[in-house]
Amino acid sequence: MFNTKVVQPSRLDPETKFKFRCHPGVSCFTKCCSNIDIMLTPYDVLRLKNRLGITSNEFIEKYTFMRIDDKSNHLYAYLTMGSDEEKRCPFLESAKAGCSIYEDRPVSCRYYPIGQGLVKVEGEDKQTTHEEFYFFVREEHCKGYDEPDEWTIASWRDDQDSKLYDEMNLGWKELLMRRDLPGAAKLDDNKQMQFFMASYDLDRFSQYVFGSGLLDKFEISDEEIKAMRTDEVALMKFGFRYLKFLLQLEETLKLKESK
Ligand code: SF4
Ligand code: SF4
Repeated sequence: MFNTKVVQPSRLDPETKFKFRCHPGVSCFTKCCSNIDIMLTPYDVLRLKNRLGITSNEFIEKYTFMRIDDKSNHLYAYLTMGSDEEKRCPFLESAKAGCSIYEDRPVSCRYYPIGQGLVKVEGEDKQTTHEEFYFFVREEHCKGYDEPDEWTIASWRDDQDSKLYDEMNLGWKELLMRRDLPGAAKLDDNKQMQFFMASYDLDRFSQYVFGSGLLDKFEISDEEIKAMRTDEVALMKFGFRYLKFLLQLEETLKLKESK
């Protein structure tokens, strides 16, 4: 059965070594691309909608379904698998050809067979930061572990070209961790919608930012506004700052003084 996922409980660091290789010659090639849960990050959606030349809203409608986290009311987007018997990923071109959007594949496909987690760490100055950790995912069908190529977690991440994914995902995961804060309230409908829009529906968030007068409320430099107009990564980073402010997690934005 393809979906027998085994998460090994050890917490790994970037220098942990392992042997692995995935290539078209392995007997299991593309067996991991069917009947799977792939939770998408905002940056995954940004890369994929641009790859496909469609809007974020079109991508969400056509390729995703949503799950609600009961504790926080956060909405998470998952890639919709095909309706065929195998429930193939929509981006699986064929069992031989592999992934049709390989350069823009979601971060969880990049990292596989490594999983990522995030823990809160309190420094000596009592300031809280977040630290990533890693774990192995070992699935019965995956023969990549039998291959001789040796990696560290760090060299695997470099090979998978995940640097910008990691940077963007860290900003978003810090937001998700609010669910575990003592006394964290569930998002109401309005905040849930804003959380979703700034996370996943970047084209609609752009219309909201530039068309609603939102920017007039905050002290934001012209340079930053210019960057947000021309660079979607800058807009997404602003979105995370805005959500942290909206959810009262950090004073990431300064309100203009009323005259
Ligand atoms: S199951 Fe493992 S080795 Fe096989 S294609 Fe998937 S990642 Fe590669
Ligand atoms: S996005 Fe590509 S690598 Fe990921 S499951 Fe789909 S076909 Fe496989």
